Amino acid sequence: MPDSPWERARQQLRVAAARLSLDPLALARLQHPDRVIAVSVPLKRDDGSVSTYDGFRVQHNNSRGPYKGGLRYHPRADLDEMKALAFWMTMKNAIVDVPFGGGKGGIAVNPKELSEAELERLTREFTRKMLPFIGPNLDVPAPDVNTNSRIMHWIRDEYARLTGKDAPAVVTGKPVELGGSEGRTEATGLGGVYALMTILKERGADHRGMTVAIQGFGNVGEYVARFLQQEGFKIVALADSKGGVYIPEGIKDLDAIQACKEKSGKLAGCYCIGSVCDIAHIEELGGRDIFPDEVLTLPVDIVVPAALENAITKDNADALKAKIVLEMANGPTTIEADKILQAKGIEVIPDILANSGGVAVSYFEWFQNVNEEKWKKEDTLLRLKEKMEAATCAVLEVAEEYKVNLREAAYILALKRLVP
Ligand code: NAD
Repeated sequence: MPDSPWERARQQLRVAAARLSLDPLALARLQHPDRVIAVSVPLKRDDGSVSTYDGFRVQHNNSRGPYKGGLRYHPRADLDEMKALAFWMTMKNAIVDVPFGGGKGGIAVNPKELSEAELERLTREFTRKMLPFIGPNLDVPAPDVNTNSRIMHWIRDEYARLTGKDAPAVVTGKPVELGGSEGRTEATGLGGVYALMTILKERGADHRGMTVAIQGFGNVGEYVARFLQQEGFKIVALADSKGGVYIPEGIKDLDAIQACKEKSGKLAGCYCIGSVCDIAHIEELGGRDIFPDEVLTLPVDIVVPAALENAITKDNADALKAKIVLEMANGPTTIEADKILQAKGIEVIPDILANSGGVAVSYFEWFQNVNEEKWKKEDTLLRLKEKMEAATCAVLEVAEEYKVNLREAAYILALKRLVP
């Protein structure tokens, strides 16, 4: 299956490895995860019955530091996808230059079907099963799809109970008041904006007034929209899984959209002015509703996939009109689509660079925990800016040196740092 994320990841790796004539043993080590841990996680339900779930952790590579990556709770948690995501973490951490390797894991469960108490018991049982494999210097999980700061706190707490010592750096993404880092929530979106700004500056482009369409209005999409708008970009379209809004003159009030999400759980057909939320407001502003996938093919300067994998495929790549794709989701572009975008001269800012701001601040959290420090938000975000600018400039230099696109350059840079 060429477009399974894991196959795609390995193909991207092979292309970059060939450029560097990488040692075959080093390549083989990266083409396979170091370890795949599979556990059973029994849970006593509130009604007294017992359900058992499958849990996983893929530890891809730790040559630069402890394995690092998210935990997702999803009924279709798929090992193939986790291997790809763990691999991309290895690459991302090398690009943004933090001393971590790559990991990913989770439990095949629908957390929405569990009570709060059941979710806590499940997380504590999973932590017990994973105890030999996690630790501040071994493997450091973080939140991912359907997991959050509360779940990270339970893992930290259970780890402390079982080992007899509190080690806040065993997980990142904790609540700020319980050892988390200021700035983590907005870090991924803001990091992507720094990467984009660095590239536009390098290309001598004036970004003010450039139009942007964003797919996904979750944690990442929302912050990308807000920070881009602050910088003077014009956000013209936003969409979630149910559809969205397109206002060619610009969505000036992002709070009007945020209020819709909070009120009705979706963006389409809604724009709130004061307490009145109505599609009529969109029409008054010269806009209209759009279908979820339409957001990618609108006539804009920049398209930002910030939802799920495989958003840009051979079926829609040809219809893209943007000049730049800022990949904030993991793996949003299939291999065939990537070729089409390249042939059309569309510049793709690859996921492993664009969304690496999140793990950069996760590293800051780990560092603060280990060194018993507490940084101010503005200091954290300044360090994030420095990290993103350095990573982006390094990718641009490799692209220039090897005459390759930014995705290939990002992989080459990662490999140079992983196999010096
Ligand atoms: P989220 O769950 O907060 O938001 C996802 C958004 O995508 C939601 O608004 C959802 O409605 C929307 N969506 C889903 N399917 C869609 C579709 N077909 N069309 C349009 N919208 C759709 O998730 P998030 O944390 O914002 O993550 C988004 C992406 O960024 C994921 O690929 C994630 O792996 C990646 N990422 C996130 C972080 C982070 O720090 N949160 C870090 C690195 C990468």
